[in-house]
Parts: sequence; C-alpha cells; structure tokens
Amino acid sequence: MKNEKKGSGKPLKNPLIIFLLLSVLATIGLNMLLTSFSSSGEMEITYDEFVKMIDNNEVDEVSISSDRYTIYGLPELTEDDVKSSNIGLFTMMNLSDEAVDAQIDASRPVYYTGYIADQRLLDKLDEKHVTYSTPVRYNNPILDFFLTWILPFVILYAIITIFMRVMAKRMGGGGGIMGIGQSHAKMYNVENKTGVTFNDVAGQEEAKESLDEIVDFLHNPAKYTSIGAKQPKGALLVGPPGTGKTLLAKAVAGEANVPFFSLSGSEFVEMFVGVGASRVRDLFKQASQKAPCIIFIDEIDAIGKSRDNQISTNDEREQTLNQLLSEMDGFDSSKGLVILAATNRPEVLDKALLRPGRFDRRIIVEKPDLKGREDILKVHIKHVKTAADIDLHEMALATSGAVGADLANMVNEAALRAVRFDRKVVTQEDLMESVEVIIAGKEKKDRILSPKEKRIVSFHEVGHALATALQKNTQPVHKITIVPRTMGALGYTMQMPEEEEHYLNSKDELLDQITVFLAGRAAEEIVFDVQTTGASNDIERATDMARKMITMFGMSDKFGMAALESIQNKYLDGRSVSNCSEETRTEIDHEVVRILKERYEIAKQLLIDNRDALDEIAEFLISKETITGDQFMEIFNRVRENRNKIVVSLDKQEADDEADSNNEN
Ligand code: ADP
Ligand code: MG
Ligand code: ZN
Repeated sequence: MKNEKKGSGKPLKNPLIIFLLLSVLATIGLNMLLTSFSSSGEMEITYDEFVKMIDNNEVDEVSISSDRYTIYGLPELTEDDVKSSNIGLFTMMNLSDEAVDAQIDASRPVYYTGYIADQRLLDKLDEKHVTYSTPVRYNNPILDFFLTWILPFVILYAIITIFMRVMAKRMGGGGGIMGIGQSHAKMYNVENKTGVTFNDVAGQEEAKESLDEIVDFLHNPAKYTSIGAKQPKGALLVGPPGTGKTLLAKAVAGEANVPFFSLSGSEFVEMFVGVGASRVRDLFKQASQKAPCIIFIDEIDAIGKSRDNQISTNDEREQTLNQLLSEMDGFDSSKGLVILAATNRPEVLDKALLRPGRFDRRIIVEKPDLKGREDILKVHIKHVKTAADIDLHEMALATSGAVGADLANMVNEAALRAVRFDRKVVTQEDLMESVEVIIAGKEKKDRILSPKEKRIVSFHEVGHALATALQKNTQPVHKITIVPRTMGALGYTMQMPEEEEHYLNSKDELLDQITVFLAGRAAEEIVFDVQTTGASNDIERATDMARKMITMFGMSDKFGMAALESIQNKYLDGRSVSNCSEETRTEIDHEVVRILKERYEIAKQLLIDNRDALDEIAEFLISKETITGDQFMEIFNRVRENRNKIVVSLDKQEADDEADSNNEN
C-alpha cells in the first residue's frame, strides 16, 4: 500500500514534466501511426527500377508529389475476379461499377520512390500512356495564416490553462504563482444555506441577543432604512478559541436565511503583493450581488494587525487591510450586507478596523458557565444514543473551563468509547471517562480549575465584590464569574457597566478602587491563609493606580501637584517617562508602598467585618460559577438583615437576662 502510494504520488509532484512527456509521446505515437497507415503495403523501389517498370509496361498510374513518386502497378484482379469472389458472400447484392473499379484499383501493388527532377520522365509516361497526376493542394491564405500563426498560440494557451488548473487544484484551491489570475474565486466559501440555527448554539445567550438585531435587519432591511436607521456594518465576535464564534456567525446566516460568504484571514495573505487586496475586492463584489447576505472573516487578526509599533512592515498585509477598510466604507449596507469577523486577539487589531462604520460592534463570546456547559452538552448529546440515566449536570460540573468545542469533543469521545466496548448506547461512565481524557490532554494548555482552586478563586472574586459593595465611592457589581478565561484572569468581577463609563475620578474613588483591587488577596488570606499568584493582575493595577495618583494626578499630600511623570507617546504605547530625580523616585516608591499597605488593611477589615456575607456568597458562586449583580446584592442584603435581626435578638436576650438577674436579686 505504502509503496503504491509513493509510486503514484511522486511523479505527480511535477505535473509540468508529466505533461510534456505525455505530449511528446503522443506526438511521436501519432506520427508513427500516420506513417505506418499511409505507407502500409507500399514498397520502396529505386528510381531506375521505376523507369524500368515504365519501359516494361508494368505501371498503371503515377502520382507525383513534391518529394516522391507513388507508383501503382497493374491490377492483380480482373472484373470477373471481383464479381466471382463476391458471389459467395453477397449473392443478394449487385455490386455497382464504381465498387468493382475500387476493388480492382485496390488490388494494384503500390511502390514509391524519391523525387528526381527528370525531364524525360513525363515524355516517357506519355509515350507509354500511363496516367499521371499531382495531388491538388487546397491553398487558402486565410487558412494558411490560421494554421501557421493562430493555431500554435491556441494550442499553447490551452496547454498552459490546463496546466494552471492542475496546479491550482493541487495547491488546495488556489494560491501560489499559478493561482493569481484565476483562483481567487475559490478563496472563500459560499454556503447558500448554512443549516445552523441559534438552537445549535447553547450557552451564549448574551451573544445571541446581540446578534438578534442583525438577523432581524437581514430579514427586513427596509424596515430599518425606511426610518433612517443605519445598521452597523460589521460586528466583531471576540472570544477564546472553540467557544462557538464560527458557529454563531453561521447561525446568524441560518436564522436570517441568507447566503454565507466565509473566509479565513490567514488565507488572504500570500506572498504576492496585491493578491489579498484583489481577493477582498472580488469577495465584496460577489457578495453585494447576492445581498442580503453575510460575509464572515475568520481570524481577522491575521490581516487586521495593528500597523504601528512594527519594526518590519508587511506591504501585502497592509494593502489587504486598506482594501478591506475601503470596501467596508464603500458598500451600501442598506441592501442588507453584514460583515461578521472573529478573533481571539482583539487587542492586536488595528484601531482603524474598530472605528464607527466598521467593526464598531463587539460581541463577547465567553467560555460557558455551568448552565451554559450543560446546555451545550444537551445540544451535542442529541446526536448520540444514550442510556436513560445519564446526568449531564454532573458532567457540566466536572468541566469548568471547557469550551463548546471541548464539550462536543467529549461527547464524541464518549460515543467512541461506547463503540470500543461494544455497547449500543453511551453511558454516564463513558461521558465521565471522556471528560478525563480531554481534560488530561488540555490541562497544560488551558486552565481547568481543581475544586480547591475553584474555592480560592471564588472567595477571591467575592472579596472584590464585597469591597465594592461596602464602599461608597465605587461602581456597583455587575457580574461575578469564576469561569477561567484565556485572557489571563481566572475569574473576574465586572464592576463598571460599560455604558456608564465616566471620565473624571475623585481621589476617594481611586483610593476605594485600590481597596477593591486588593480585596481579592485579602479574602484569600482571611479564609485560607494563603497568598496565591491569582492576585498578580490586581496588584499590578493597584500599584499602577497608586503611582499615577502620586506622579500624575497630584493627589498625594507629600508631593502636591508636581508632575513627576508624563506620557510621551499618547497614541502609541502610552508609556510614561519619569521627570524627577533619583531620590524623588525612591520616595515615590515608598509612598506607593505606604498607600497600598494602608488600603490592604482597610480591605481586610471590611471583609472580616462581613465574613458571613463573604462565606455565603462565595458558596453560592462556587455552585453557580457566574452570578449577576442582582443575585449578589440579594444575598448581601439578606445576610445583613439576618445579622441585624440576630443583633436585635441578642440585645433583647441580654436585656432579658439582665431583667432576670435583676429579678433574682
Ligand atoms: P471558534 O470559532 O470560536 O473557535 P467554533 O465555532 O469553530 O469555535 O466551534 C467549534 C465546534 O465546537 C462547533 O462546531 C460546535 O460543534 C462546538 N461548539 C462550540 N461552541 C458551541 C456552543 N456554544 N454550542 C454548541 N456547540 C458549540
Ligand atoms: Mg472559528
Ligand atoms: Zn482579583
């Protein structure tokens, strides 16, 4: 098998050589066939033999061409011979005279000899009454021109075209030198019906909600344009790999029932400058003819990488990006053309891509939480036969941090395992085993938390949230989650609702914010008496804020309003440079440390005073993985009320006790 494969694979490596060889062989073969056909039965004789034959009256006819004489001898058959030989076979048929003549002619022996310019020959032939002739050459100047000048080009063109097709096919749908001219038609996929709907995407309710509007727009663009509303031209799906970004984009097309043009950013960028740009142009042209439709650009970071901060420039990528930008500006969105793009590295994207009128809408596709995972499992378990007693909740519990693609993979792995054990249905054991297989494979790459880590992260996050709720100058808690994210954090507490972003911060707000940053670590220490690496980002941000307060915002009593640092490249990396002496810098460092220590103690005290709320909310978070701000406040307020009741009843009891003792006395 192996050898066979090699044998057939190797020569194909160079189709040009094969092609040339084949054509040469074909030409030679054809030539040989033609010569052997035309000269079959012809015998070569010398010129003097020919002359002798004429003299001996052995020649019936001579055909003279520019390079040879073809000599027909006397027929071997007579008319009677022909007629009698055919009697047996075709008694019923009367041979026509021409047919008889043809048979007689065919019985003549044929000789040939080379042409010699012999003056006497014609006289001799006349003398012996031999018929002679020369074949008439049909001479047409137009045909001549066609044969000598046009035909070779046509053949050459055909050969090259075929060759290119072969090459393009072999290079997997285009690309390379040969693909420039013609293969960009294959650079993207067109699916007229994706067959995917929102029902196939689970655990991404927020993303689906954001995309609903786009679906509606595609259904009925006129509804929006008639009122003068402009739909966003593009939306960017942002999230870790495998969370279902591609799936969501397809689902939008499926829900809206429109064609789906998709391509991957990395396919755009080739070695030849200008290819990517022409592909973008082509894509938009094709798509706008089919509008309403969706263009989906996967891995857009491959072309959309930020143009600044680069040592070497990539002309091709820049041209492609520029073309994309200008196409996005140019197309008429009222026809119902929507561009979706996906990336897992939004931070590297060029700012120009994110400007209004381009990918101004961002749809976060996060790793699914407990309920999301259970829902995703439900979607995928539909495709396999299962035992009656499977428990997807248990499986979801065990897969914290897994994304949709992992879960789909796990279900498939379980089905494979069932087949291995010759079972007809997938059991719970298969499912749980496959969880381990996949997680073991991914453990190093992705973060999947152990139960112990989950507890620590949970208390850490609730620490942040409580510090937020307990201080005056902070934004309300929006959401807390302990679903690990690829962007670094193991969990996070979302504080500011994005739409209410504000631009002025008071000193108290900043100090309280530092307390919030430090409360994560404070909770770890209070509850578990550990210090983990999970707080590194908090510490960094707290330090940064404290430093800025001192050096840039003029908020420290010690230095007053001196600008000790300034930002140099506001639009590029935004790094700040120090404007002060070495000694002052040392002092700044001390001051930063002092502020941080102070705020840390405050954070700790806050949490110690509210330990009951910390415990209760953390346990709730562990069981749910994600809780909303409302849920958080609900528990928080309940715990506080209970505490007040207890305090009241304690007071009462004390009073009663006192009364009792008074009575006794
Ligand atoms: P991404 O584009 O974000 O890397 P994909 O959309 O390619 O991820 O997802 C890969 C596969 O994982 C999908 O085809 C689907 O089977 C499964 N999957 C991922 N996310 C989900 C989800 N939210 N619901 C259902 N299946 C999902
Ligand atoms: Mg994808
Ligand atoms: Zn934290």
